[in-house]
Amino acid sequence: MTALAHPQLAPASSRMVRCAWCRQPVRLIVASKHQGVCPLCVAENAELGWRTVYDRRRGLGEIPANLRAAYNL
Ligand SMILES: [Zn+2]
Repeated sequence: MTALAHPQLAPASSRMVRCAWCRQPVRLIVASKHQGVCPLCVAENAELGWRTVYDRRRGLGEIPANLRAAYNL
């Protein structure tokens, strides 16, 4: 996992991270709404039950690496 250089230096609204699946740059503000993946991947994989990759309430799975990095978890 390679984060973009110094994302903390950019304003939050323009921070870029990489999609956890296709690795394309996506705005953090967008990725954070979709569990770290871009809207295209969400649309393509919605039927695969990707949400179970990480369920905070039930303590299942792992936080996606790019979210972990983005939020310093
Ligand atoms: Zn993607």
